[in-house]
Amino acid sequence: MDFVAYDDRDGWIWLDGSFVPWREAKVHVLTHALHYGSSVFEGERAYDGTIFECHRHSERLINSGNILGMKAPFTADEMDKVKYEAMAKNGFDNCYVRAFMWRGSEMMGVSAQKNTIHTAVAVWQWGDYYSDKMKGIKMGKAKWKRPHPETAPYNAKAAGLYMICTLSKHAAEDEGYADALMLDWRGQIAEATSANIFFIKDGAIHTPTPDCFLNGITRQTVIKIAQEKGYEVIERAIFPDELPSFTECFTTGSAAEVTPVREIAGIEFKPGAICEDLMTSYEKLVRGK
Ligand code: PMP
Repeated sequence: MDFVAYDDRDGWIWLDGSFVPWREAKVHVLTHALHYGSSVFEGERAYDGTIFECHRHSERLINSGNILGMKAPFTADEMDKVKYEAMAKNGFDNCYVRAFMWRGSEMMGVSAQKNTIHTAVAVWQWGDYYSDKMKGIKMGKAKWKRPHPETAPYNAKAAGLYMICTLSKHAAEDEGYADALMLDWRGQIAEATSANIFFIKDGAIHTPTPDCFLNGITRQTVIKIAQEKGYEVIERAIFPDELPSFTECFTTGSAAEVTPVREIAGIEFKPGAICEDLMTSYEKLVRGK
């Protein structure tokens, strides 16, 4: 094995109110979340000791729980504090932050009305999300679609929704791609498997309207940066037959940051000036410069 598994590391994980040694942060096999996907989570990054949009992520975690009927046993302010404590306890200034909550073991069926809501925070050092981030990634096209908004609560960052993402990402990786472009149930371009997507044509930035997928915090940040810099940002329905008309493409996400895309299933893009400008501006913003 050329990697260290996530359950076999040194450090501390905050679990239900206190820090436990990393390897002892365990759940029972009969945990509702494991069987029925009743878990919500956040992915965040800390830069030089500051978690980017820490409070918004805490609020989104609580909101994701509310959407699934899981009342958070903490406030957003308390969660902010725990995330910083986890960084301090593990000695990290630059790291990934994973805060999550899930239904426990009291009931084991579809109904989980009496199940305790558990919470944990883990932090770890994580480099670029994509190994070939700087030269631009190659993406395939996913077979699986983002579902209709009446099929699943798309604005919750809920573990269950990631079944489609892992299926799509594995299929793309098996074909040699770093990620997959996911369409929605209408056939419109939606996003990557864990990041939002943007395109550039004639100096303007085009991105799909987030009406059936997560309106990422990074997506919103990058739109704001772009508008402040004077770029035109157009949110609209984008169909895949338009792909050859775009010159640049990039994805955004807390883990992915701003990542240039150089190919989507044979269609090539040239990471260029606008993409670079936004990458640099995002990097400056998250580092408070
Ligand atoms: N879409 C999906 C499916 C994701 O998992 C993520 C990462 N959380 C995003 C978009 C981007 O969201 P954010 O910028 O808030 O990290």
